[in-house]
Amino acid sequence: MCSLCYAFCMNARILDGIKIRDEIFVELQAEVSSLAAQGVRPGLAAVLVGENPASQMYVKSKVAACEQLGMASWLHTPPANSTTEYMLQLVDDLNRDDNVDGILVQLPLPSQIDAKRVLEAVSPAKDVDGFHPVNMGKLVSNRPGLAACTPAGCMEILRRNNIAIEGANAVVLGRSDIVGKPMALLLLHANATVTICHSKSRDLPEIIRRADIVVAAIGRAGFVQAGWIRPGAAVIDVGTNKVTDVAEAERLLANFPQRLEKFRVKGSALIGDVHPDAVNTAGALSPVPGGVGPMTITMLMSNTVKAAKLRRMSGGMSGRLQPASTAR
Ligand code: NAP
Repeated sequence: MCSLCYAFCMNARILDGIKIRDEIFVELQAEVSSLAAQGVRPGLAAVLVGENPASQMYVKSKVAACEQLGMASWLHTPPANSTTEYMLQLVDDLNRDDNVDGILVQLPLPSQIDAKRVLEAVSPAKDVDGFHPVNMGKLVSNRPGLAACTPAGCMEILRRNNIAIEGANAVVLGRSDIVGKPMALLLLHANATVTICHSKSRDLPEIIRRADIVVAAIGRAGFVQAGWIRPGAAVIDVGTNKVTDVAEAERLLANFPQRLEKFRVKGSALIGDVHPDAVNTAGALSPVPGGVGPMTITMLMSNTVKAAKLRRMSGGMSGRLQPASTAR
């Protein structure tokens, strides 16, 4: 951005997740080939219970990504009325299967299944979602392990765009186990000064105004106002909110006539947790869609390759095969 733009236009640099996904896929393809030469083919087993259309779509794209990278994949589709015991047996079988490096249990599970028990039954070595308490513990103590995919993807976006993390004031909005908490830990281990906010935090705008890096993961469309962002700050918008209300879309997209027009045709728009007008205050901004979204599957693939190396190869993490940017 030129200095004139910075002063008068303030158009944020767009942190393009699709571009980074493509870069990482090229690196992973090379790693998968290198592993194949050593007799190892990383493989992901996906478990999809029932027929939830959104879950079917997610799992389909994960299996397609495996194929694109030359990795093995298996899809298990137990019926919607499956029991916790059935799921525990299936997970146990996958834990014992030496060809399986990663196990993905697609959430949500039907209510009769004890999701927590099932997720905790997954071997930590194959927990490519990074949800297992053992992997959470490793993340807390900054030891090699498998970190949750969405926050790991946010770190890739920051690093590959050369956004300075060390010493930066980073504010994470949201404290969920799958996004907010692991995100805060990853930033902390990268030497940021981290503040975590949640629904009981006071003076949110003031806290956000002090941030060099803002990561928003709260699940509220356009909640973070453009005026709360310090000019020049880097903003990672994790939120994926489907807006269908016309008045809400008109309020959020007033300055984006093309997007509003698309909304009118389609009847919905995907809006992040950050108000779209933040593009005029932030120095860098991950768009929704096309920012964090593509990174989640990317890091699932990266974790599966990492799990294969950790579990199957002597020397595990030390090898030349590990991309520096995913190391922690
Ligand atoms: P979640 O489990 O519902 O957690 C939301 C967090 O936001 C909670 O910690 C909550 O605080 C906090 N929060 C809610 N309202 C707030 C407010 N008004 N002010 C401050 N904090 C507030 O959500 P999640 O699973 O972390 O997901 C967050 C968003 O990221 C959602 O939009 C989700 O769709 C999106 N997401 C996207 C991807 C992707 O691949 N792009 C992946 C995962 C999630 P309390 O703890 O106090 O309740």
